[in-house]
Amino acid sequence: MTVSGHIVVVGSCRVDLLARVPRLPAPGETGAGSGLAEEVGGKGANQAVAARRLGAAVRLVARVGRDSRGDAILDALRAEGVDVTAVGRAPAATGVALVTVEEATGARTVVVVPGANHALLPDDVEGAAPLFAGAAVVVTQLEVPVDTAARALALGRRYGARTVLNPAPAVPLPGGLLPLADYLIPNERELARLVGGRAATATEIEAAARSLLASGPGEVIVTLGARGALRVTRLGSALEAPPEAVAVDTTGAGDAFVGAFAQGLAADLDPLAAVRHANHASALSVARPGARSSFARAEEMHTWRNR
Ligand code: ADP
Repeated sequence: MTVSGHIVVVGSCRVDLLARVPRLPAPGETGAGSGLAEEVGGKGANQAVAARRLGAAVRLVARVGRDSRGDAILDALRAEGVDVTAVGRAPAATGVALVTVEEATGARTVVVVPGANHALLPDDVEGAAPLFAGAAVVVTQLEVPVDTAARALALGRRYGARTVLNPAPAVPLPGGLLPLADYLIPNERELARLVGGRAATATEIEAAARSLLASGPGEVIVTLGARGALRVTRLGSALEAPPEAVAVDTTGAGDAFVGAFAQGLAADLDPLAAVRHANHASALSVARPGARSSFARAEEMHTWRNR
């Protein structure tokens, strides 16, 4: 795949602290954990890495703290080849998530402490404007303040880039936000929360996506786990199935999808081809353990396709 313009990701960086427990403790209870692990993540950084591994040139606009977790995040991003010129140090602690995973079921509790991610303000995005010149695609999510995400999309428009909004986590959106997104990519749960209703059956999911489409994005792409992705446009809708995969760990599947979709667009795929490409990349990532560590590389996509 050829590389055209670069991608700008405006989003979060985080360290996830994970512990395994035999059973999730009830409120007031203390559980004995094991297997403590520390992983770099955050939707912004993960989507930047997913796109980079597939061959895109990626610049990240983000904030970390002046602490060792911030150093670890920057080191990991540099090692992947992501441009971190616009990852600044905020006077707040680096974002952290506390994750407890129940061994037998995989059920988890997650507490996110945004820290420095909430110090990324619209003016900081504006300050990074030179990075947007020549961008093919601008991607953002909602682990940074919603006004910051809005400014990222607006700046993307100003510079003629295609804009992608992954509304995760789903928070109430200001009226002017969705028209700034060429591609809105929620998962099923986010879709239901955004429309404030049920989105469980195929009919409900399509109706919910259509109601979001009426609020102004260019198109809505709903990721549906093993079922793939439903693309809803003003011309119609189509479900694109992923290649069959034996899922061993679906953590980060959404980030793998969004990063690959953005990279596909930046490499001049049309949106349908970019959705199929993203299905391939994320199916590959769910077939192995880990979140970021499972993201596909360009050369693996080739092998996978030809199987
Ligand atoms: P999230 O991680 O946000 O919950 P999804 O679960 O919808 O996102 O997964 C994102 C994408 O990952 C899907 O659209 C699909 O392409 C791929 N995917 C997820 N689970 C599977 C699976 N079991 N088999 C194949 N592909 C999968």
